[in-house]
Amino acid sequence: MKVTLIKGDGIGPEVIGAAQRVIDATGADIEWEEIPLEFKDNAPAIDGILESIRKTKICLKGPITTPVGYGFTSLNVSLRKALSLYAGVRPAKSFDGNIDIVIIRENTEGLYTGIEFSVASSACAIRTITKEGSERIIRFAFEYARKNNRKKVTCVHKANILKLTCGLFLKTAKEIASLYPDIEFEDRLVDNASMQLVKKPEDFDLIVTTNLFGDIISDLCAGIIGGLGVAPGANIGDNFAVFEPVHGSCPKYAGLNIANPIAAILSGSMMLKYLKKANCAEKIEKAISSIMEKGILPKDWGGNYSLAQITEEIINNL
Ligand code: NAD
Repeated sequence: MKVTLIKGDGIGPEVIGAAQRVIDATGADIEWEEIPLEFKDNAPAIDGILESIRKTKICLKGPITTPVGYGFTSLNVSLRKALSLYAGVRPAKSFDGNIDIVIIRENTEGLYTGIEFSVASSACAIRTITKEGSERIIRFAFEYARKNNRKKVTCVHKANILKLTCGLFLKTAKEIASLYPDIEFEDRLVDNASMQLVKKPEDFDLIVTTNLFGDIISDLCAGIIGGLGVAPGANIGDNFAVFEPVHGSCPKYAGLNIANPIAAILSGSMMLKYLKKANCAEKIEKAISSIMEKGILPKDWGGNYSLAQITEEIINNL
């Protein structure tokens, strides 16, 4: 089975290299097609990456740095749009099992359509929410809930203020919810939902939301389960899937052998489940739980183990 591998930059090559080693050690028998990150016209080149993913249909990807406040459009956003990877799936599960939430983020619309312009001394961004895009992601969320034995879907929005855009998203969520009477449905304003997630995370099961809210809430949920170092993710469309940790390229840890590889390794485990290699995925998850229980902890969890040591320990515990 061929999988496209993009290691990215910053801590990407270290954490994705670790995930690749762990996946290989499970005996999953993956043939990797690594596409190096290249630059064209001062921006990461996307053509070779797209060509490979269109062939393999699956990709394991590391984070890629995007300049803040200037410069090129995020390659991550471009990939999600080009391959129509409309569902960002981001599980937030704590190792003690007390928190277990899945965030389903609309990945292609909202404030990420990239329509921004300046008018005199002001700047504007256009937020686009379509009926079709809302239906697609909300249906995905309910189907995901059914397949994964999730009991409740919470639609997170800001329809009291953004009456048209969030209003359309919420109205669509209510319509689709009525087709799934077996799944409880509720909606919450994003500000209240954020507070409740910190105070009473057990109130949440599966969250479906728009692009920017999903981005923020999934980092918040990463925070309540122990940080970005352990938060995996996937970008799923009807034809392709790209698996990547929630975190970014974390330049301050790059090359220091101290980043936590678990988010990337768990993203690999999500990929193995998607590829119907659930036994390999389970081996990885058990090995991670086992090293955590033994107190073999990475630096961001207050431990002393380097990235290479954590990777080795996971492999030894498979
Ligand atoms: P970041 O996720 O890279 O890091 C934020 C903080 O989280 C770090 O300072 C660190 O304390 C912690 N952290 C993240 N990953 C960790 C890990 N594996 N182990 C231990 N701690 C970890 O976010 P940022 O600093 O806001 O962004 C850096 C760059 O990454 C930016 O250029 C941004 O555009 C890019 N980015 C890329 C992606 C992607 O490629 N999918 C996602 C988010 C951000």
